[in-house]
Amino acid sequence: MNGHAVESGSHLTQAGIEAAKTMAHEESAIKELDASELKITRATAPRVVPEVNSKEVFDMKTCTDHMVKVTWTRDEGWHAPEIEQYGPLTMMPIASCLHYATQCFEGMKVYRGYDGKLRLFRPDKNCARLNMSSARVALPQFDPVELGKLMKKFLGIDGPKWLPKSRPGTFLYLRPAIIGNGSEIGVTAPAEVLLFMVAVLWPDFSAPRPGTKPAPPGLKLLASKNDTRAWPGGFGYAKVGANYGPAFVAHMEGRKLGYDQILWLLGPEHHVTEAGASNFFVVWKTKQGALQLVTAPLEGKIILEGVTRGSVLELARERLIEGSKYLTPEVGSIEIVERQYTMPEIVEASKEGRLVEAFVAGTAYFITPVSAINFKDEEIEIPMGDDGSSGHYAALIKKWLRDIMYGNVDHKWGVVIDEE
Ligand SMILES: *Cc1c(COP(=O)(O)O)cnc(C)c1O
Repeated sequence: MNGHAVESGSHLTQAGIEAAKTMAHEESAIKELDASELKITRATAPRVVPEVNSKEVFDMKTCTDHMVKVTWTRDEGWHAPEIEQYGPLTMMPIASCLHYATQCFEGMKVYRGYDGKLRLFRPDKNCARLNMSSARVALPQFDPVELGKLMKKFLGIDGPKWLPKSRPGTFLYLRPAIIGNGSEIGVTAPAEVLLFMVAVLWPDFSAPRPGTKPAPPGLKLLASKNDTRAWPGGFGYAKVGANYGPAFVAHMEGRKLGYDQILWLLGPEHHVTEAGASNFFVVWKTKQGALQLVTAPLEGKIILEGVTRGSVLELARERLIEGSKYLTPEVGSIEIVERQYTMPEIVEASKEGRLVEAFVAGTAYFITPVSAINFKDEEIEIPMGDDGSSGHYAALIKKWLRDIMYGNVDHKWGVVIDEE
């Protein structure tokens, strides 16, 4: 109620008014997330850092020495944040997140630059998105700037050891998450919540897994058939766990058929939305001959608003214009289009020789070209550039982003972390 006057003449019962008063009282005692209250307890059993792209790294089970934990309770708000040794969480079997998917998360990377510095890429975007996702599943709000501070503090501690300066061009995966972890079998918003953050060793998916042959370049996508990942009025735009588990069935079926990811379509028109946990871009020529970079729109709240997606669009709008110094013989100026488009449009462009390239964009798979899409049991081949390794737009945009992430260029999106 926060000091808002109770509307006179409303039909609040006496009990309701009392409850409102109590809430107003409690809210005044509620604490905001405050990184300056951080308590640090150093790990007593530090572990060995595995080799880059070793089997251990491909298993994606190795975390760094520490983790961040912050408790929130309805009565008190955000408690003092803690950094402590990485280890198991405990909760009761009736914890809310185990039953009602009161969970949301982020996926980010921290990069060891070629200049020796440690960087995050636009962490403010991820912190704000976590807050948005949290609200969608009735979890609490926080000041995203304070979360950013905790993140930097954590990486300042584990970064030097787990991303040593001797390994420029490598990264760790950062996973912040929020869960309803109180004992609450009642079907309601959780009264006790945990925000935590871990850093995981992550393989370079473009490198072969130890003991296997390198895969041919380019992802093969299987267009979804009867499954829908997200729908109008749903929660496809939020990074909540509830979006992922139910998609694994289609993903595993796709894998069995030799496809890397599902290309999620929506509705009877077969609107193209996104691919796996990445946004999807296509480059084509229109029937009139205009070159376009096309991706699904944010309106309608179907797709996740990827930080990579937004960065691709911003850079493309800024640099892929007539007269830009960034243009190359292969990469000319291009129109940038965010609109609903359909699989039949891609099929038609392919048949008429207008399909130029396609790629996915996201933190996990970064910028990866797409070589084929299976739609209604027919495979559409997608051009992969002159040498068959990547379309030219994907390759150039990927280089631009890499240069920012690994400090080859100075850019406001690369946020340097102070290390201990
Ligand atoms: C995380 C995610 C993306 C990519 O977002 P980035 O911020 O670029 O990593 C795209 N789609 C889905 C469904 C995702 O979960």
